[in-house]
Amino acid sequence: MLSTNSVPVTPEAIRTAPKVLLHDHLDGGLRPATVIDLADACGYRDLPTSDVGELGRWFTEAADSGSLVRYLETFAHTCGVMQSTEALVRVAAECAEDLAADGVVYAEVRYAPELFCENGLSLDTIVEAVQEGFRIGAVKAKEAGRTIRIGTLLCAMRQNARSLEIAELAVRHRDSGVVGFDIAGPEAGFPPTRNLDAFEYLRQQNAHFTIHAGEAFGLPSIWEAIQHCGAERLGHGVRIVDDIKVAGDGSVQLGRLASYVRDRRIPLEMCPSSNVQTGAAPSIAEHPIGLLTKLRFRVTVNTDNRLMSNCLPSTEMAALVDAFGYDWADLRWFTINAMKSAFIGFDERLAIINDVIKPGYAALMG
Ligand SMILES: [Zn+2]
Repeated sequence: MLSTNSVPVTPEAIRTAPKVLLHDHLDGGLRPATVIDLADACGYRDLPTSDVGELGRWFTEAADSGSLVRYLETFAHTCGVMQSTEALVRVAAECAEDLAADGVVYAEVRYAPELFCENGLSLDTIVEAVQEGFRIGAVKAKEAGRTIRIGTLLCAMRQNARSLEIAELAVRHRDSGVVGFDIAGPEAGFPPTRNLDAFEYLRQQNAHFTIHAGEAFGLPSIWEAIQHCGAERLGHGVRIVDDIKVAGDGSVQLGRLASYVRDRRIPLEMCPSSNVQTGAAPSIAEHPIGLLTKLRFRVTVNTDNRLMSNCLPSTEMAALVDAFGYDWADLRWFTINAMKSAFIGFDERLAIINDVIKPGYAALMG
């Protein structure tokens, strides 16, 4: 029961609450002004406009078209301007600052290094530049009174068949802040099992990985990700609802895969606004996150692409509060779920839960 001293759950108050983000793409979170600056600096001429406001709207509208393939086209521009170490450092630093300013205390930010090789940067140079950017951003955030820790996930693109090489890159940089691996890109036609060698290598190395599965494609993709590849978490995982039957009287029956996901507490990295944009859910109010939360799956709330979805961790949570009437206890539950599911060590996760998240919500709950 909330005390009468509880702070109202407004968008402004949610911004001050400690938050944890597990699914955020570096190349999907640039500031529109930075895209324009970087395009000027490197001579990139393909941007649809050089007006900051118009460019921000263009990204959201292009991503709103309802198809994952079209959605991915917006990345041609962001990746196009991120082909130098200077650009990578700046984008990573601003990412850390922007997340910290929104109240994020721990974030796992992901990107596919292979997308930044166009001008000849090596994969290792790219990883070092991004790590340097996160370091600088965290220092600037600290100067502004915010503490953030960032763990990096390296993605391999499903269509490019470089996953083993990227998995090895992730392991090579595991002691300098790379905490895991993922596969991203078009799901249909590129099942997770195409990358089995990478996943087997990571398991041999005791390394962590998540897999984008169950967003554009259904249950077989989720099943392969977990049972063939050994994914610890599911990127999106929305389609797990296809294995859940809700009867007219409200009674719920879970299929074997849905039961397995819930019983094993496999974290779902849910990204409501992004799913509405790609057509994986009709609206926030009808998003499966409502049912999955009610059924106590290990649900976490994420942004996916802040630029394309014009969102922040706090606005995603505020949208869920609007749609489902969640209170501080629910937002704390999402946050602790996410922190428990992070790829850093157990003692570090526990320290953030006990020293930062619980006191932060206690102050808001009164
Ligand atoms: Zn994603």
